[in-house]
Amino acid sequence: MNNPIEDALKVIQSKPEGVLQSELWKVLGVDSRKCSRIVKKLLDTGLIERAEFKKDGIKTYVLTVTKRPLDPSLILAGEELIPCIGCEDECNVIECHRLMDWMYQLAIVEAEEII
Ligand code: SF4
Repeated sequence: MNNPIEDALKVIQSKPEGVLQSELWKVLGVDSRKCSRIVKKLLDTGLIERAEFKKDGIKTYVLTVTKRPLDPSLILAGEELIPCIGCEDECNVIECHRLMDWMYQLAIVEAEEII
């Protein structure tokens, strides 16, 4: 582990249910004061959220990644949903005709919006 902020973010991202701040510093191998500074930086960036939590009567915090609403423009070309959602094929992005067709459709939709 090199960058403690990146490492902390990875740990938090790996647990959708959240990570207790009182356990994060042990995982990172830093002391609780340093962990507090790392958590503050992540909170300041908006990448994580923090909520109060009591464990064994002791107050701590549960840390979770910030959930952002999905931008529909990232998965829709007009009415057409990106084919990768639900795809179970062995993925080869460079040679995927379904993805190419979808991107072509996206280019058409974007061109129509400009005209
Ligand atoms: S790029 Fe093609 S093969 Fe890969 S996940 Fe998307 S649709 Fe499926």
